[in-house]
Amino acid sequence: MLSKILSREECSKCKICCEFDDNDLWETPIIFNENIQSILNINPSQKFSEFDLDGNKYKILKLNKEKDIYPCTMLNRSKGCMLGYENKPFDCKIWPLRVMRKNGKTVIALSPVCPVIASKPIDEVMSLAIDLKDIIFAQARLHPEIIKDYIQGYKVLVEEKE
Ligand code: SF4
Repeated sequence: MLSKILSREECSKCKICCEFDDNDLWETPIIFNENIQSILNINPSQKFSEFDLDGNKYKILKLNKEKDIYPCTMLNRSKGCMLGYENKPFDCKIWPLRVMRKNGKTVIALSPVCPVIASKPIDEVMSLAIDLKDIIFAQARLHPEIIKDYIQGYKVLVEEKE
Protein backbone atom coordinates (compact mmCIF):
# COMPACT_ATOMS: atom_id res chain seq x y z
CA MET A 1 0.00 0.00 0.00
CA LEU A 2 2.94 2.29 0.51
CA SER A 3 4.73 1.34 -2.69
CA LYS A 4 4.34 4.90 -4.05
CA ILE A 5 7.01 6.06 -1.64
CA LEU A 6 8.56 2.86 -0.26
CA SER A 7 10.11 0.54 -2.82
CA ARG A 8 10.46 -3.22 -2.37
CA GLU A 9 14.23 -2.82 -2.83
CA GLU A 10 14.44 -0.26 -0.02
CA CYS A 11 12.44 -2.51 2.31
CA SER A 12 14.42 -5.64 1.47
CA LYS A 13 17.68 -3.94 2.44
CA CYS A 14 16.29 -2.91 5.82
CA LYS A 15 13.69 -5.27 7.39
CA ILE A 16 13.76 -3.29 10.65
CA CYS A 17 9.97 -3.67 10.87
CA CYS A 18 10.22 -7.48 10.86
CA GLU A 19 12.38 -7.81 13.96
CA PHE A 20 11.30 -6.78 17.43
CA ASP A 21 12.89 -6.21 20.81
CA ASP A 22 11.55 -6.08 24.34
CA ASN A 23 10.57 -2.42 23.83
CA ASP A 24 8.64 -2.82 20.61
CA LEU A 25 7.15 -6.30 20.91
CA TRP A 26 3.80 -4.46 20.97
CA GLU A 27 4.46 -3.87 17.24
CA THR A 28 4.17 -7.62 16.53
CA PRO A 29 1.53 -7.71 13.80
CA ILE A 30 -2.06 -8.51 14.71
CA ILE A 31 -3.23 -11.63 12.91
CA PHE A 32 -6.74 -11.63 11.44
CA ASN A 33 -8.54 -14.95 10.97
CA GLU A 34 -8.05 -14.67 7.20
CA ASN A 35 -4.24 -14.57 7.70
CA ILE A 36 -4.01 -17.79 9.68
CA GLN A 37 -4.12 -20.38 6.91
CA SER A 38 -1.39 -18.64 4.87
CA ILE A 39 0.81 -18.59 7.96
CA LEU A 40 0.19 -22.27 8.69
CA ASN A 41 0.90 -23.11 5.04
CA ILE A 42 4.41 -21.73 5.58
CA ASN A 43 4.90 -23.07 9.08
CA PRO A 44 2.35 -25.69 10.19
CA SER A 45 3.69 -25.59 13.75
CA GLN A 46 3.43 -21.80 14.11
CA LYS A 47 1.97 -20.88 17.49
CA PHE A 48 -0.05 -17.75 18.26
CA SER A 49 -0.27 -15.65 21.40
CA GLU A 50 -3.67 -14.30 22.36
CA PHE A 51 -4.62 -11.02 23.97
CA ASP A 52 -7.94 -9.68 25.23
CA LEU A 53 -9.54 -6.44 24.16
CA ASP A 54 -13.04 -5.43 25.23
CA GLY A 55 -13.93 -9.04 25.99
CA ASN A 56 -12.71 -10.41 22.63
CA LYS A 57 -9.61 -12.48 21.97
CA TYR A 58 -7.14 -11.56 19.22
CA LYS A 59 -3.99 -13.20 17.93
CA ILE A 60 -0.40 -12.24 17.27
CA LEU A 61 2.41 -14.49 16.07
CA LYS A 62 4.31 -16.19 18.88
CA LEU A 63 7.95 -15.23 18.35
CA ASN A 64 11.11 -16.73 19.78
CA LYS A 65 13.89 -14.60 21.21
CA GLU A 66 17.26 -14.91 19.47
CA LYS A 67 19.89 -13.07 21.51
CA ASP A 68 18.22 -9.68 22.07
CA ILE A 69 15.66 -9.73 19.29
CA TYR A 70 12.51 -11.53 18.26
CA PRO A 71 12.64 -12.02 14.48
CA CYS A 72 9.26 -12.47 12.86
CA THR A 73 8.77 -16.15 12.11
CA MET A 74 7.53 -15.24 8.62
CA LEU A 75 10.80 -13.46 7.76
CA ASN A 76 13.30 -15.07 5.43
CA ARG A 77 16.38 -12.90 5.90
CA SER A 78 17.47 -13.18 2.28
CA LYS A 79 14.05 -13.15 0.59
CA GLY A 80 11.93 -11.00 2.92
CA CYS A 81 8.41 -11.80 4.08
CA MET A 82 7.44 -15.33 3.10
CA LEU A 83 3.75 -14.45 3.16
CA GLY A 84 3.94 -12.27 0.06
CA TYR A 85 2.08 -8.98 -0.13
CA GLU A 86 -1.48 -10.30 -0.41
CA ASN A 87 -1.28 -12.48 2.70
CA LYS A 88 0.63 -10.09 4.93
CA PRO A 89 -1.09 -8.90 8.09
CA PHE A 90 -2.73 -5.50 7.62
CA ASP A 91 -0.35 -4.00 10.20
CA CYS A 92 2.54 -4.94 7.91
CA LYS A 93 0.85 -3.62 4.78
CA ILE A 94 0.60 -0.14 6.26
CA TRP A 95 3.78 0.03 8.37
CA PRO A 96 5.31 2.55 9.22
CA LEU A 97 1.82 4.02 9.39
CA ARG A 98 0.01 3.11 12.57
CA VAL A 99 -3.60 3.46 13.63
CA MET A 100 -3.65 5.02 17.09
CA ARG A 101 -6.06 6.44 19.62
CA LYS A 102 -5.15 9.96 20.67
CA ASN A 103 -7.36 12.05 22.95
CA GLY A 104 -10.30 9.79 22.16
CA LYS A 105 -9.85 10.12 18.37
CA THR A 106 -8.63 7.53 15.90
CA VAL A 107 -5.63 8.83 13.98
CA ILE A 108 -3.15 7.63 11.40
CA ALA A 109 0.33 8.29 12.77
CA LEU A 110 3.82 7.74 11.44
CA SER A 111 6.29 5.56 13.31
CA PRO A 112 9.62 7.36 13.78
CA VAL A 113 11.45 4.03 13.42
CA CYS A 114 11.42 3.49 9.64
CA PRO A 115 14.68 4.97 8.30
CA VAL A 116 13.51 4.92 4.68
CA ILE A 117 10.32 6.91 5.23
CA ALA A 118 12.22 9.28 7.50
CA SER A 119 14.33 10.21 4.46
CA LYS A 120 11.26 11.13 2.35
CA PRO A 121 9.63 14.57 2.22
CA ILE A 122 6.91 14.69 4.88
CA ASP A 123 4.48 16.22 2.35
CA GLU A 124 4.66 13.02 0.28
CA VAL A 125 4.08 10.84 3.35
CA MET A 126 1.16 13.02 4.44
CA SER A 127 -0.37 12.91 0.97
CA LEU A 128 -0.13 9.11 0.90
CA ALA A 129 -1.76 8.85 4.33
CA ILE A 130 -4.62 11.03 3.08
CA ASP A 131 -5.00 8.81 -0.01
CA LEU A 132 -5.14 5.69 2.20
CA LYS A 133 -7.22 7.08 5.05
CA ASP A 134 -10.57 5.61 3.96
CA ILE A 135 -9.13 2.09 3.63
CA ILE A 136 -7.20 2.34 6.89
CA PHE A 137 -10.05 3.77 8.97
CA ALA A 138 -12.43 1.19 7.50
CA GLN A 139 -10.09 -1.62 8.62
CA ALA A 140 -9.78 -0.01 12.04
CA ARG A 141 -13.58 0.00 12.43
CA LEU A 142 -13.71 -3.66 11.37
CA HIS A 143 -10.66 -4.66 13.43
CA PRO A 144 -10.38 -2.32 16.45
CA GLU A 145 -7.59 -4.57 17.74
CA ILE A 146 -5.16 -2.80 15.35
CA ILE A 147 -5.68 0.53 17.13
CA LYS A 148 -2.77 1.25 19.48
CA ASP A 149 -2.64 3.77 22.28
CA TYR A 150 -0.85 6.90 21.11
CA ILE A 151 2.88 7.06 21.82
CA GLN A 152 4.82 10.30 22.01
CA GLY A 153 7.05 10.78 18.97
CA TYR A 154 4.58 9.34 16.44
CA LYS A 155 3.62 12.11 14.04
CA VAL A 156 -0.14 12.36 13.57
CA LEU A 157 -0.87 12.60 9.83
CA VAL A 158 -4.64 12.23 9.62
CA GLU A 159 -7.42 12.34 12.20
CA GLU A 160 -10.68 10.48 11.60
CA LYS A 161 -13.66 12.78 11.21
CA GLU A 162 -16.68 12.11 13.44
S1 SF4 B 1 4.51 -10.91 8.65
FE1 SF4 B 1 6.02 -10.46 7.06
S2 SF4 B 1 6.03 -8.22 6.82
FE2 SF4 B 1 5.00 -8.72 8.76
S3 SF4 B 1 6.61 -8.59 10.32
FE3 SF4 B 1 6.49 -10.72 9.64
S4 SF4 B 1 8.00 -10.91 8.01
FE4 SF4 B 1 7.63 -8.73 8.32
